[in-house]
Amino acid sequence: MYNKNAWKKYDNIDEVMKFNEGYKDFISYGKTERLVTKESIELLEKAGFKPFDKFKTLKAGDKVYSINKNKNVCAFIIGTKPVTDGLRILGAHIDSPRMDFKGNPFYENSGFVLADTHYYGGIKKYQWVTIPLALHGVVCKKDGTVVEINIGEDDKDPVLGISDLLIHLAQDQLQKTLAKGIEGESLDLTLGSIPIKDDEKDAVKKNVLRIIKEKYDLEEEDFVTAEIEVTPAGKARDYGLDRSMVAGYGHDDRSCAYTSLKAILDTKKTEYTACCILVDKEEIGSVGATGAQSVYFENIIAKVLEKMGHTNPLFGARIALENSRMLSSDVSAGYDPLYPSVSDPRNCCYLGNGLVIMKYTGRGGKSGSNDANPEFYSWVRKTLDDANVNWQSSELGKIDVGGGGTIAYILGNYNMNVIDAGIPVLNMHAPMEIVSKADVYEAYLGYKAFLVSKN
Ligand code: MN
Ligand code: MN
Repeated sequence: MYNKNAWKKYDNIDEVMKFNEGYKDFISYGKTERLVTKESIELLEKAGFKPFDKFKTLKAGDKVYSINKNKNVCAFIIGTKPVTDGLRILGAHIDSPRMDFKGNPFYENSGFVLADTHYYGGIKKYQWVTIPLALHGVVCKKDGTVVEINIGEDDKDPVLGISDLLIHLAQDQLQKTLAKGIEGESLDLTLGSIPIKDDEKDAVKKNVLRIIKEKYDLEEEDFVTAEIEVTPAGKARDYGLDRSMVAGYGHDDRSCAYTSLKAILDTKKTEYTACCILVDKEEIGSVGATGAQSVYFENIIAKVLEKMGHTNPLFGARIALENSRMLSSDVSAGYDPLYPSVSDPRNCCYLGNGLVIMKYTGRGGKSGSNDANPEFYSWVRKTLDDANVNWQSSELGKIDVGGGGTIAYILGNYNMNVIDAGIPVLNMHAPMEIVSKADVYEAYLGYKAFLVSKN
C-alpha cells in the first residue's frame, strides 16, 4: 500500500541533502511570518517574479507576486489556459506557535525585569521553559517609523528565557497535570538584573529600558503598538547520526511553505495558472485580514483577471476558484515509536515515507474537516505516481484521541477540489520539531508535479 520508504528509492542522496540545506537556511532565518515573507520576496525576485504593481497587463508566462500586510505571499505563473479554467494552488501557512509580548510587557520583581507574554497557538507550555529564546518583531512608533527587533540569533547576542522551579522544591508542582504545571501567566521572559545607580524604584527595569532606548530609540510606551514574538533561539540542525532529519522550530508549516514556494520558483511555464499562497493565523483559526478566511486571496485573483482584460473580474475570480485544484500543504502527525497508542499503524504517516495525503482531518466524526472527493483524490494519486513521488495516505491520529484542522476546508468553501498534502512531523508545536529530509524533498517533487499537471 502507498507506504514505502523514500530513502530506498535514491541511488544518490546528495540532491536530497542539498535541498535540505536550503530549507534549513530558510527556517533558521524565517522565525516569524514577517521574516518568512521577507525571504520569500528575495527568493521570488531572484527567480524572476515581479511585484503585482509592476505589471500594466498580465499574459501567459508572466511571473507575478503580491504581498499582503507583510504576512501573506501570493505568487502566480500565468498559464496558457484562461485563468477561469481554474488554478493549481499550493497553500501553506507561515505562522507557528510561539509567545507574543503583551501590550504592556515590562515589569520589575525582586531584582529582575521581566516581560509578560501571551502564547499564540497550541503549545504544551512546559516545553517552553529553560530553553534559549529569541525576540523577533516590529515596534511601530507614533511617527510612523517601524523598528525591527532581532535579539538572540547572532552568536554574540544574549539569549532570553523563562525560568522553571528547581526539582528540589517542586513537590507540589510535580503533582499537577502537564496542562497545569506551567500556567500561561507564568510564561514571562527574564530580561535583566542590573539596577541603575542612585535609583530606588524600578531601577533594573529603568536600566533595561535605557538599553532599549540606546539600541533602538524606543520608549516603553512604544511597545503598546509592537508585535514582538518570542521564539526558540538558534539555527535548524541536522538530526540523527545519519543526518536524515532536520531539528528546528516551525516545521509546522514552514516545511510545506518552503517546498511549495520552491516548487513554483522552479517551474517555468504551465497550462493552468500556477499559484502558491502563504497565509498567516492558521494556528489560531485562520481568522483576520491575513488568515486564509480573508477575502485577500479572492481579491488578488480578481485583480489578476482585471489586468488580463476580464470584463467581470470578481465573478471571474469566483469561477476561477471553483474550477481550481488545490493541495493544502500542511504537516501531519508522524508516527512516534515512543507514543504508539495514539496512531492507527495502518492509517498513519511515517517519517521517511514521503508526502502525506490526508483525505480528511478533523476530530471525532471528522468534525471540521475538508473530506476530499475520491474522484479528485484518484487524480492526485495518478499525478503523484506518474511523477514517481513517494507518498502515503494518513489520518491525523487515532479516532477520539484528539484531532486538528488545516486551511483545506476554507478554500473548499469555494466549491474547489482540495486535499491535504504535507510533511510528517514529530514533536509538532514543540520548540524543536523534527522532519525527515526525504519527506521535505518528496513534498517538493510532488508539489512541482502538481503545478504542471493536466486535468
Ligand atoms: Mn499546520
Ligand atoms: Mn499547527
